[in-house]
Formats: sequence, structure tokens, C-alpha cells
Amino acid sequence: MDATDRTRLSEKEQEGCAAAETALARCHAPYSRLRVAAALVLEEGEPIAGTNYECASYGLSLCAERSAISRAQSEGTVEQVTALVLVARADPGGPSLAAPLTPCGACRQWIAELSARIGQDFPVYSFLSRERQGLRTTARQLLPDAFTLPSPPS
Ligand SMILES: [Zn+2]
Repeated sequence: MDATDRTRLSEKEQEGCAAAETALARCHAPYSRLRVAAALVLEEGEPIAGTNYECASYGLSLCAERSAISRAQSEGTVEQVTALVLVARADPGGPSLAAPLTPCGACRQWIAELSARIGQDFPVYSFLSRERQGLRTTARQLLPDAFTLPSPPS
């Protein structure tokens, strides 16, 4: 992970930041009080945002990254992904955030598989809400030697 600055992102990546900031208002995080939004930046068109969606049975909750990837798949735009932007903020009573968040293990697998599928080691950015300084990494750096299934028998 490298330090980055929102102002150094491309125009479309900055649109992804804005989309993720907007999506923070739509997170469903009553248990953790941690809002996380993700936006997939596309070659063309508007970014695809997703939010975390928590469930009373905690392990069944869905992270923002997988929410955004699933949405892009449903909308037929997932192969146009050029970057992923994460933004997080805590609600009152939530965790104290000292640094931008990084994707959990499950999301790293999804991101790695998407990267392999579209043949793009796209950048992954993470910021705390409204903060200029953040982190930059890439899909492959997040999960080197990711799990893959061998080709099915023919
Ligand atoms: Zn996750």
C-alpha cells in the first residue's frame, strides 16, 4: 500500500470518490456503526457504487466491495472496471478510525477474481470520508497467489 492524495487521482477516479462519498448515506450498518461505500470506476459512464449491508446474523453481512461488484455484474458493466474506490466513516458510537480501511479477505478474493477475469490489475484506493490523504494499492497486490479453481475437465 502506498500513500496517495485524492487530487492525484484521474478525473474518473475522483468521480468514483464522489460516488462513494454519496453512497455512505445509504449504508446499512446498525451493528458495527461503520459505514463503508465502494465505487467501481468504469471506462465509460457513471461509477457503480455499493454499500455495506449488515445483518443481525453478523457473518451474513455483505461488504461494500462485493455489493458494488455484484451490482456491476447485474448491470452488465463489470468488464469495464478501471479502479475501485473505498470510503469509510463511523457513526456516533462506532469504531475510531485512524487510517483508511483495507478490504477483508473475502473481498480480496472477489477483487482478485475480477482482476483476473477482466485482465486488469486495477488500482484500489481507500480513504476516510472527506480526507484528502489515502492509500493506493492494486487488485493483485491485495491478494498475491489468490485461490483459483483448476480448469474443469473437458
Ligand atoms: Zn469485505
